[in-house]
Amino acid sequence: MSRYLSPRLAALDAYTPGEQPRDMQYIKLNTNESPFPPSPLVLEKVSEAEVGRLNLYPDPEATVLRQKLAALHGLKPENVFVSNGSDDILNFAFMAFCDENRGAAFADITYGFYPVYGDLYGIDCKVIPLKGDFTLDPTEYHGLGRMIVIANPNAPTGLTISEADIRGILESNPDNVVLIDEAYVDFGGKSVYPLVKEYDNLLVVQTYSKSRSMAGARLGFAFGCTELIRDLELIKYSTNPYNINRLTMIAGEAAIDSNDYFMDNVNKIIEAREYTASELRKLGFTVTDSKANFLFAKSDRIGGEELYLELKKRGILVRHFSKERIKEYNRITVGTMEQMEKFVAAVADILY
Ligand code: PMP
Repeated sequence: MSRYLSPRLAALDAYTPGEQPRDMQYIKLNTNESPFPPSPLVLEKVSEAEVGRLNLYPDPEATVLRQKLAALHGLKPENVFVSNGSDDILNFAFMAFCDENRGAAFADITYGFYPVYGDLYGIDCKVIPLKGDFTLDPTEYHGLGRMIVIANPNAPTGLTISEADIRGILESNPDNVVLIDEAYVDFGGKSVYPLVKEYDNLLVVQTYSKSRSMAGARLGFAFGCTELIRDLELIKYSTNPYNINRLTMIAGEAAIDSNDYFMDNVNKIIEAREYTASELRKLGFTVTDSKANFLFAKSDRIGGEELYLELKKRGILVRHFSKERIKEYNRITVGTMEQMEKFVAAVADILY
């Protein structure tokens, strides 16, 4: 840290991304990426000609991309915001909807970036513990008077909450934003994006990083009422108007035009997830009922960190969190069936 850093940031505990090692080829089940490449149409559209146009700035309004996303979801382009990964949108939301007087609230076990944004902007964050089985009690989010952020499905547990519960939270918090982070919704959750027509305080955030195999392109999108989207645009035009590069924009449009490819991959991942969950249970693991592209599991035969290290020695990377409440667990991204068979065999080898 230099002596020039603002003292306000000196104690900031930044987000730690999952490992992206270069020392050897791992079976990478640690950062919830898709094991499949982007759709053939994406590869075709991001052509040499498009690279040749990189001398020009991209469309700051992302007109075509927003039209396509709106049409796919039965909404208007004014209800759609797009940005450089959904992390960017979460960042904008904390900037736009919270301040010294308006705090935020989220669960104790959820996406690790929420508290980082809270700290970055000096926001008072109410951390609400999940129940013993990692489910969320929606009534604890009623009438909070602060921005509420809920990942649905949650990370790293993969557990979901119902639309009825989300409605209850929206209705009891009319004066603050309820942000539903649906990064993993395509793997078996139910999106609440249609509710943006009913609730002005709902912001639904999704990403191309998981189900559409485009983590490397950095593209996220959000749905909300026109005013909420304008608020996010205010932040965008005050920080980085060209927040999506030309190649990502083209790739994002092509991915929407390849919906069948995307559905096929999602179904393969769901199948591999259910196979892996059932094999892990046979091996004595406690596994949450994940509706995401990852599993969250612990064994009483081996500690969470030890299993992570043993798997790493065998060339398989999973994600271990050292947080006390979940330190016996590992989060295992679901890869291809072949990768998951290797993973299950490695676990069995370690345990027996
Ligand atoms: N929300 C959740 C719950 C996540 O797990 C992630 C991925 N780390 C993100 C948002 C951010 O994803 P991206 O920025 O790649 O869209």
